Amino acid sequence: MRTLIKNGLVVTADGSFEADVVVVDGKIDAVTRHASGAVETALAGIVADETIDATGKYVVPGGIDAHTHMELPFGGTFAKDTFESGSKAAAHGGTTMIVDFAVQPKGKALRDGLDVWMAKAEGNTLIDYGFHMIMSDVNEASLAEMDQLVAEGIPDFKLFTAYPGVFLSPDDHIFRALQQTRKNGGLIMMHAENGPVIDVIAADLVAAGTTDPIGHGLARYPVLEGEATNRVIRLAEAADAPVYFVHLSSRDALEAVSAARRRGSRVFAETCPQYLFLSLDDMGNGFEGAKYVCSPPLRPKDHQEDLWRGLRTDDLQLVGTDHCPFDFAGQKELGRGDFRKIPNGLPAIEDRVDLLHHGGVVGGRISRERWVEIMSTAPAKMFGIYPQKGAIAVGSDADLLVYDPNRKRTISATTHHMDVDYSLFEGWEIQGASDVVMSRGTVVVRDGAWVGPAGHGQFVRRSRSDFARLA
Ligand SMILES: [Zn+2]
Repeated sequence: MRTLIKNGLVVTADGSFEADVVVVDGKIDAVTRHASGAVETALAGIVADETIDATGKYVVPGGIDAHTHMELPFGGTFAKDTFESGSKAAAHGGTTMIVDFAVQPKGKALRDGLDVWMAKAEGNTLIDYGFHMIMSDVNEASLAEMDQLVAEGIPDFKLFTAYPGVFLSPDDHIFRALQQTRKNGGLIMMHAENGPVIDVIAADLVAAGTTDPIGHGLARYPVLEGEATNRVIRLAEAADAPVYFVHLSSRDALEAVSAARRRGSRVFAETCPQYLFLSLDDMGNGFEGAKYVCSPPLRPKDHQEDLWRGLRTDDLQLVGTDHCPFDFAGQKELGRGDFRKIPNGLPAIEDRVDLLHHGGVVGGRISRERWVEIMSTAPAKMFGIYPQKGAIAVGSDADLLVYDPNRKRTISATTHHMDVDYSLFEGWEIQGASDVVMSRGTVVVRDGAWVGPAGHGQFVRRSRSDFARLA
């Protein structure tokens, strides 16, 4: 199977150039720059099964969302998107690979959790996928298992300073896990908020009569994310290990990361669309604010431009979604009368690539090359899948978007593909959308319609992080 994508502007993290892209059997076979008749020569004799005209469009590597939670059990319910519905929504939004989080059941092996998540994903996921591992217990057995998982293509492990009694790891456990990755080349990912202190403040708020969703945002002070981020950075420095912060949401946490990077520490972080585009203001309006409950919470509006600046200066390397959708009806409603019972999580997987184009490139905050980097190339490098993914280069997987940077569309729950009954961005008109989405050479979405085969996604074994090794 040979496909020719003609006349597009190839946009990579390194630069942009007019070129034709030849795809053979799922891989990029040639990238031929337009220059003085060279194309005709180079392409002479090539017979394509399909030719896609990309005139006036970008050709970019497919998005990689390295932070998703399909079917995650949380607060007595499950995140609504399955691997099938969530991956389909991802593809519609220009994302061609996800890395989801398998969860170690407390008291059991990492492998037990991994097996469960593998079974949920296999045969159901429509685009390629990998896993990170959430560690619920740090002990001799789980530390030893980390080495095996690194060797099997699951080289990163998430720990929490939040959610006491559920996911929280004390400092000595975090330190031991960091020491282990120092030895085995893996990467520790951290949810950094001071959970125990937040619980005190939340209980005080409820006792004082604040039970609406806004209480969730008020209780989780930015400084408590800053404190936990700095604490874990210092633990990582003590262990001489790299560390990666998920869903960094506040100026306070960014300051800690920036300071560490200036010291030369191997500290990395992602932010999410919700923190770049939404704010604490969205959590008002009575119980409607439950639609916006996630952790860390949305922050006061003045944090947003600091996060964009972090993306420009590379103190923030990439953007994931933390996609973890719950219906407003029946799921978010579990927290009526007590914000602490609202399931934490937001639907965002379908909107990430286009929102970053709209707010970043169209909005004049980042270049189109940096857009490709934060939504595809940097996640590929950070999580050990570059240049198999995240690149337009000979030999790379043909995970490609033919992207129309001028098309305008309106976001709505009535037209999105995520299995959730509301949109965070209802009615927003944004600029930029994928005309064609290709996964390993197969067109899976064309003009907004799914045209790919069922169960197309494959598990991707990942290497150790390029960034963590080399930085
Ligand atoms: Zn998450």
